[in-house]
Parts: sequence; structure tokens; C-alpha cells
Amino acid sequence: MTSAEVALTESEQRFRLAFEDNMAPMSFSDLYDVAIAVNDAFCEMVGFTREELIGHDSTQFTYPEDVGITEGAHRQLTSKEVGQVRYIKRYLRKDGRVIVSEVSRSAARDASGKILYFVSSERDITEERVLTDQLSHLALHDPLTGLANRTLFEDRLSHAHARASRHGEMGAVLLLDLDDFKGVNDTHGHLVGDELLVGIARRLEQVTRSSDTLCRLGGDEFLYLAEGLTSTTEAEELAKRLLAVLAEPFSFSGFHLEQHASIGVVVWDGATADSNEFVRNADVALYEAKRQRRGGYALFTPSMHEQAINRFTIVQDLHHALQVGELSMHFQPIVNLTTTEVVGFEALMRWQHPERGWLPPDIFIPLAENSSLILDLGYFALRESVAAAISWGQLSDQARSPYVTVNLSAHQFRDPGLVPMIEEILRTSGLAHERLILEITESVALLDVIETLSVIEHLKRLGINVALDDFGTGFSSLSYLVLLNPKIIKIDRYFVNPPNDSAHNETLLETIVSLGDKLQMKMLAEGIETQPQLDLLRDLKCELGQGYLFSPAVPADQAKTMVGGCLAKRNQ
Ligand code: C2E
Ligand code: MG
Ligand code: MG
Repeated sequence: MTSAEVALTESEQRFRLAFEDNMAPMSFSDLYDVAIAVNDAFCEMVGFTREELIGHDSTQFTYPEDVGITEGAHRQLTSKEVGQVRYIKRYLRKDGRVIVSEVSRSAARDASGKILYFVSSERDITEERVLTDQLSHLALHDPLTGLANRTLFEDRLSHAHARASRHGEMGAVLLLDLDDFKGVNDTHGHLVGDELLVGIARRLEQVTRSSDTLCRLGGDEFLYLAEGLTSTTEAEELAKRLLAVLAEPFSFSGFHLEQHASIGVVVWDGATADSNEFVRNADVALYEAKRQRRGGYALFTPSMHEQAINRFTIVQDLHHALQVGELSMHFQPIVNLTTTEVVGFEALMRWQHPERGWLPPDIFIPLAENSSLILDLGYFALRESVAAAISWGQLSDQARSPYVTVNLSAHQFRDPGLVPMIEEILRTSGLAHERLILEITESVALLDVIETLSVIEHLKRLGINVALDDFGTGFSSLSYLVLLNPKIIKIDRYFVNPPNDSAHNETLLETIVSLGDKLQMKMLAEGIETQPQLDLLRDLKCELGQGYLFSPAVPADQAKTMVGGCLAKRNQ
């Protein structure tokens, strides 16, 4: 072989290695995109044989919408703007599958710079594409419901806000929170909870306008971004529609579940400064919606913001108050209405705030309910009340020692640590179990009937009794009352001291008191303020009572002086 022949053989071998055996799909084509040579990897990628490809242009395996991309690349290469172009092109394989390829194409030129042919090397990036699409979907959507997530929502919100500023439009952010959704999870488990969330997402989607964005914020909260509104009324209509679509019960996996929600609404226009505040303000309005009535909505107003700050500082201060001893328990005597003998005391929490002065429990207890702080307060109330009851017991004979009633909050009642905590306090203090009575309100008792009954059963087995507080304000049925079987029913002061004069009032009170006889429970009238009220209750044979007529709640040492005696009525 001549040296020229050797060189040619070697060059052919190099070409075969670089081209034919290359793992990357490669092709040579002429100026009209007609294939001159293709390698095995290329045939494999598009699913055609070498014979089917050579002599034809790429149209036969190009995805219809992408025909023209190659021409564009050729134009760029011919105009000498660049030596190599890279582009993405979709192919339609012979088997019908669509694939995505990343192409890098260069032009081979003669000495004068004239293009002889094109060489391309490609990379099948179909799977990569699917994966990135999935990943970007995941990054912007909630995996459970498939709705937009907070990131996507915020992006849409900032665009919507910018558009509104340009065109003078209005928009709204609606924050929807499910009422008592935790109860569903606790009672039926997380799988059912998840299924319910998906069901809710599908229902909400039904009323989501195409211009709007529905997002799951997490947990049981959903956000709705409404664009192009012309009035506040439209935002309210939207809130009503979202609530109405959840009205029908949900049924799946053999369950029928009612799930209602509350909504906080913020309406804004381009002039409203900061879109970052919309969600926070919607949350403030949501709090108001929940406070007013379950299953409703509330529109945000700036004064709500001040109230929210107020609430926030109260909760902060409350943590501190508990540590430094600003909280204390006061005790209101419970008397036998016939003899006025003191038979027990209701423990009521008091807070002497250094700046705000005396704060009523109606204000701070519901605020603490939203955090685990309520458990600490509950522990404090029980410990202090039991300690006080011990001190009263040392004075008179044990059998006639007054009991103490302690109010329990909903959160506490659901806490699995409640019963062990009570057992521990009773054990270390040595208080006779029957001298502790726990007060629960009808609404707490109704939260989850089965769970409530099991906790109460447990308490009764320990010899601890239960009083049903604020009776008449909730909606308990008589059959439920029989099941609960509280030792005492506390008739809400509304019935003892009705806000308006009506002949019905007396009949109503009489009916309620007579329940005690029939169900063999002790009736206790709350809020007795006047002698005529007391006389009436005595006539009706109501056994027990408490109220300002006898005494307000007083500090523990003052309560001690009332033990074993009868209470004179105070001057009215
Ligand atoms: P409640 O359990 O129904 O307590 C009775 C409320 O009526 C007390 O208000 C008491 O001071 C008030 N009251 C008593 N006699 C009269 C009267 O003759 N006329 C009028 N108008 N009111 C009377 P207070 O102490 O402000 O407590 C309010 C509520 O706060 C309580 O209602 C109870 O639900 C809650 N609370 C108080 N202490 C605690 C506690 O330690 N734990 C929990 N979870 N809740 C508590
Ligand atoms: Mg009470
Ligand atoms: Mg009450």
C-alpha cells in the first residue's frame, strides 16, 4: 500500500469510529436537507431504516409543527452568522411516538467557504423533557389536589396586581378555611381526610372562573385569586358561590361527611400598595368570619388589622403572664338555693394585666384556644383549683367540704394528656375525687360525640363528675343529654336573667328546671342577680345557683371564709 492509500484507510477507519459507531445519532445532509449518510443511532432514534432515510429530507419524520426549524437553521449557517447552530426539534417516529431531540448542526465548507453539506449530531432528550416538565409542575402545584401551590399563586398575584395598576381594575383574594377539619382527620384518619380534600378541590374548581387561580395553601386552607372585578359585591358573590358549592355532603368510601368552610375576603385595586399583604389581611378577615359565624365570609377592613395586632399582643403577653404570676383563679360560691349553704365553688380565671388592667377570661381564653397555650392555662387552672379545694377541706368535715368546678376548653378536652394530667394532680394533692367537677359547654360536648362520651366515661370511672355548662345555648338533644349523664346542668344566665320581658321566659325556665327532676340531674341556675329571680327559682324547685346576688368570684383566701356557712344576700 502506498502511503497515500494507508492514510486513506486510516482516515476511513477514523470516520467509521467517529460516525458509524458513534452512540450519538448523526447524519450528513445536502443543502436541501436530503440525507446523504446516517448512522445506526440515528436510524434507531427515528425508527426508520437507512434505506428509508437516505435520499429523503427530514419531513417524513418531523413533527408537523416543527417542519421549518431545519430550514431556519440552514439559513443561519448559510448567512455565515455562525459556524454551528443548536436547536430543539420534535420528531414523529415511525411507530407514532413523539420524541424531542437536541440538534447541533454545522456546515462543511470548501476552501472558498462554499457549503458542501451539513453534519448533525443529536441527543434524544424526550425523557429529560418529561422529567423537567414534571418537576416544574411539582414545584408549582400541590401534589395531593393538583391545584396551584403558594409559589404559583404568588406569581399570578403579583402579575394580576401589576395588570390592575396599569388598567385600573379590581381584584380579590379569598382565603377559605375548612371548619373543624381536624376532627375529620382525628375521627376517620388521614386517608379519608385526604380524599375529602381532593373532593373539595374538585368542587371548588367547578366555580373557578377561567381568569382566576385556585390554590391549595396547605392543610385545610385554599386561596382564590379573582381578577378583573368591577365591584366589591362581585367578590362577595364569589365567596357565596364557593361556600354554596360545599353545602351538599360529600360521600365516598362509605362515608357521608358534611364539610363547611369560612372565607376571609380582601378586595384590592391597582392603588392598593402591597400585594404581599393581601393574604395576611385575608387571614385577618377569616378570623372575623370564624368568630361571627361558622360557614360564612367576612370582608377585610383596616380596623380588623388593628384588632388582630391587639390579639397578637394579648397572646404574647399571656405567655409572659403565666410565668410571672399575673394570672390567678377566683372562686364564685355555688349555693343550695333553699338553705343558701355554700356547697361548692366555680373556679374562674382572672388576669391582672400591668397596663390594660383587669382582663375578662372571655377575651383571653378564646385567643389562647388557638394555640397550645390553652393547655398550659388549663393545667394552671386545675392545679390552683385543686389546691384551693384542699385548703377548704381542712376547715370543715370532709364529707361536707365544698367541691370545686373547673371549666375545660375544647382544645383541652381533645388533648389525650388530659385524663392522665388530672389523675396526677389528684394523686399528688390527695383531693377526694368527687370534690372535683369538670365543666364542659354544650358546644364542646357536641364537637365529637363518641370521643366526648369516651373521655367522660373515663373520668366517671375515676369518680370525677361533669357539669354541663351554659345549658340551653347549644343544641344538644335530650337523648344526647341522657347519654352524657352530667351530674349537674348549669342553666345559662340568659334564661335566669332574660334580656327582654316576655311571658314565655318563665315557662321556658320552668321547662328547663323540670328536666332535672325527670333526668335525675341537679339543676344549677347561673347569674342570679335579684331576689325575685331567686324566689322564682325556689318556687320551681331549682336546687342550686350562683350569681352576684350571693357573691361574685373572689380570691381563694376570701372563698375560704365562706366555707361551712350560709351566704347572706348582698345589697342589691
Ligand atoms: P362561665 O363558665 O359560664 O362562667 C360564668 C360567668 O358568669 C363568669 O364570668 C362569672 O363571673 C359570670 N357571672 C357570675 N354570676 C353572675 C351574675 O350574677 N351576673 C352576670 N352577668 N354574670 C355572672 P367570667 O368569670 O367572666 O368567665 C367567663 C367565661 O370564661 C366563663 O363562662 C368560662 O366559659 C370562661 N372561663 C373562665 N375561667 C376559665 C378557665 O379557667 N378555663 C376555661 N377553659 N374557661 C374559663
Ligand atoms: Mg362555667
Ligand atoms: Mg356558664
